[in-house]
Order: sequence, then structure tokens, then C-alpha cells
Amino acid sequence: MASDAEKSYDLLIVGAGPAGAAAAYWAAKRGLEVLAVDKQHFPRDKTCGDGLTPRAVKELSDMGLEGEFTSWHRHQGLRVRAHGTVLELPWPSHPTYPDYGFVVRRRDLDKLVAERALSAGAVIRHGVEAVTPLWDDASKSGELTGAVLRNKATGETEQVKARFVIVADGANSRFGRALGTKRDRSLAQGMAIRTYYASPVHDDPWIESALDITDRQGNTLPGYGWVFPLGDGKVNVGIGLLSTFRDYKSVNTSWLMEEWAHALPDFWGVDPTRPEITPVGGRLPMGGSVQPKAGPNWLIVGDAAGTVNPFNGEGIDYAYETGRAAANIIASAVAHSDLSILSEYSRWLETTYGLYFRVGHLFAKAIGNPDLIRRLTNSGMQSRTFMEWALRIMANLLRPGELKPAELAYAAMKGLAKTR
Ligand SMILES: Cc1cc2nc3c(=O)[nH]c(=O)nc-3n(C[C@H](O)[C@H](O)[C@H](O)COP(=O)(O)OP(=O)(O)OC[C@H]3O[C@@H](n4cnc5c(N)ncnc54)[C@H](O)[C@@H]3O)c2cc1C
Repeated sequence: MASDAEKSYDLLIVGAGPAGAAAAYWAAKRGLEVLAVDKQHFPRDKTCGDGLTPRAVKELSDMGLEGEFTSWHRHQGLRVRAHGTVLELPWPSHPTYPDYGFVVRRRDLDKLVAERALSAGAVIRHGVEAVTPLWDDASKSGELTGAVLRNKATGETEQVKARFVIVADGANSRFGRALGTKRDRSLAQGMAIRTYYASPVHDDPWIESALDITDRQGNTLPGYGWVFPLGDGKVNVGIGLLSTFRDYKSVNTSWLMEEWAHALPDFWGVDPTRPEITPVGGRLPMGGSVQPKAGPNWLIVGDAAGTVNPFNGEGIDYAYETGRAAANIIASAVAHSDLSILSEYSRWLETTYGLYFRVGHLFAKAIGNPDLIRRLTNSGMQSRTFMEWALRIMANLLRPGELKPAELAYAAMKGLAKTR
């Protein structure tokens, strides 16, 4: 038995990626005794596009990481390519979010955020996996009392007690599933694959998205491609697709990645035969598709809760935001010794993302229709104003008082579907 055997924490956090580390930071700031465990040693790689949009930048800034910004590669917006047209769309001005983003390797980013949590007073143990929840009753439906942890190097196990648990164990969420969480399979999920290439324009000030990709024979490929410049000599190149797309189940993502690399615009000067690493893929559980999000004394956050944005596949910002909200709600529950306060988390999720994610799922369903995608991108690319609105909707950057995303998205999709 290791030293924590008898120790009891206010809060145990399973996973110290963006969601877990943000939760650890905010809970420690509120004075909670926090233990976060991550089965990997940091710095560790995480399959990702490494793209941080304005929502993520705000969260990083709120966690006091502005000091790092000057060393990260900054971008001013999104360059969209489709049907031979190129549009450069700056991030909009917004009262809450900055008008810039960054591209930062997750290996570096996640380590920095975990260190912030550490400096706020959280204990973080790496190379330690939470393997089994501990319950206060045999029926396994009541409160959690903690978890069995296993040291990945030694195989040693121990029990750690905690009054509250936050589950932040990512897209596969084994710990979450042990608590009974499930993804709603009727809703779309995403899949994406990426690698890195050397590029002479690695410091380009735009992140780029390609909406119509073809293979070397000129056949349309399902999915959308990206090139995100890192400013360190490399670009992150990847392709993502939704479960609503044709071929989703049968598509070979390695082949897709290979074809996309060969289709990259000459602008990037990439040699598609020389990736920095073998392309790696991952799942994107989206639009709040995992339920339940809360138990009597536990909450789930980030990918474990399925909070990736269905419009664009971003999940880092939502991981930070949900981690922060969950930590604050648990801090209030501790302060008032009142478990019922945890019900605020579901309310917060509904108010913050409910409508947006529902429209996102409708959008995901609609763009599974190749004809509609063609019409949308073809017509959309003719209008800079439309694409600026699309960017604001897709990156969740509408200003307060603007039309609700549902109304806008419906109006836009309906109008475009009729035009051709
Ligand atoms: C190919 C690809 C590209 C993407 N590109 C972008 C992008 O450009 N921008 C963006 O915003 N999002 C992107 N995403 C989504 C983004 O990566 C995720 O939404 C984000 O990482 C979610 O953070 P998280 O903390 O919830 O989960 P994770 O980042 O997966 O972190 C979970 C952590 O939990 C740990 N863990 C798991 N199980 C246990 C356990 N039992 N005990 C202890 N530790 C455990 C893991 O080691 C890991 O460190 C992309 C995803 C993919 C697959």
C-alpha cells in the first residue's frame, strides 16, 4: 500500500488532460484538497489537431497562462478552401473572447496546464490509473467513496478516498462507463486522423480547412481536411469525418490521410511521403452525447461527457469550460455540505450548450448528405458574409443578442438548399 492509502481528498479527478487539469486548477483555487491522476507521464502526446480557437484562449488566459502566449504560434483566423475558391476569415471581434488563436502541440500544452493546477495547490500523480470506482453500497448506485488506483510502472494498487469525483478520462472513458455512462448511438460522433509535416510556411498566420477533398483519381472523399501551422517548422495535417457521412463504417482512415496528404495545396510545400510520425486517429464524442453527466457525488467532463463541438470537431475549449464549471459546482457543494448542488451541472450544460449542440447534431445529420454538402459549400463560398456567419456559428462565437444559432443555421441551410 502506498502513502495515499489512508488519505481522503475533497475531490479525486480521473485524467489530467484539458478537462481534468482545468478542473484541478479551479477546484484547488477554490481551496479544495484535490488529487488528479493520469495514467500517462507528462509530457505525453495526445492525438489532436493542436488548434486552439478564441474560446480555448480565453480559458487559458483565465488560468493565468498568458505569459506563454508569446512563445506559441498565433493565428488570426480560418482560411477556407472549397471548389477552387479561397476565403480568409478573421476571428470575429467579441466582447468575451479574443480575436486570435494558437496552434500548440498537446505534448507541451497539457503539461503547462497540469503545472498550473499543481501551482494552484492540486496534487497530480502521473503514471497512475484509476481502475475501479469505490462505492458506499453494494448496489453500486449510491455515492462514490473514491477509486482503486494502479501504479502503471509497479502494478501496485491502492484505495484513495474522496468526497467527490470528476471523471475526465477522455473519449474512451472506461472509468465513466464503469459508473454507467453511455454514448447515445443515435447521435453523430466524429473520427479524425493526423500527422505532422515539415513546411516552408509553418508560420502562416491562418489555420486552414478544406471542405472538398478528392483522392488522386479525382473522386470526392468524405470528410474535411485541415492544415494547422505550428510555427516550429511543422504543420499539423489531418482529416476528420462524421458518422453521418457515407462510407463512415468502411472508410480506412490511414488511406484517407494518405490521399489528403497528396491533395494538399502546393502553397504548403509539403512532401506527402515524409510525415514526421505515423498518422494516428481518434474518436470525437460530440454534442453532449454521453449520459448521464452526473451521479450523486460525481460529474463527467470533456470528451468523457461527449462535449466536442459537432460543427467543427473542437473539444479542448469545451474540456476546459466543463472542467471549470464542474470544479466550481463541487466547490459550492463542499462549502455548503450540500450534494443537491450538483444538479446545477446539468442545468449549466443545458443553458450553455443545449440548443447549440442540438443544432450541431442536426447540422451533422444534414451534412451527411453529399449533395447538400456540395450545395452548401458551393453557394456558401460565393458569399464572404455567409462564410463569416458560418465561422461565428461553427466556432460558437456569436455575440450576445445575435440571432440564436438555431434560427441562423436553419435559415442559412434552408436558403442554400433551395438555391441550386
Ligand atoms: C485527430 C484529432 C484531432 C483533434 N483536433 C482538435 C483541435 O485541433 N482542437 C480542439 O479543440 N480539439 C481537437 N480534438 C479534440 C480534442 O483532442 C479533445 O476534445 C480533448 O483532448 C478533450 O480533452 P479531455 O481532457 O476531455 O480528454 P483527453 O485529452 O483525452 O485527456 C484524458 C486524459 O485522461 C487520462 N486517462 C484516461 N483514463 C484514465 C484512467 N482510468 N486513470 C487515469 N488517467 C486516465 C489520459 O491519459 C489523458 O491524459 C481532436 C481530436 C482528435 C482525435
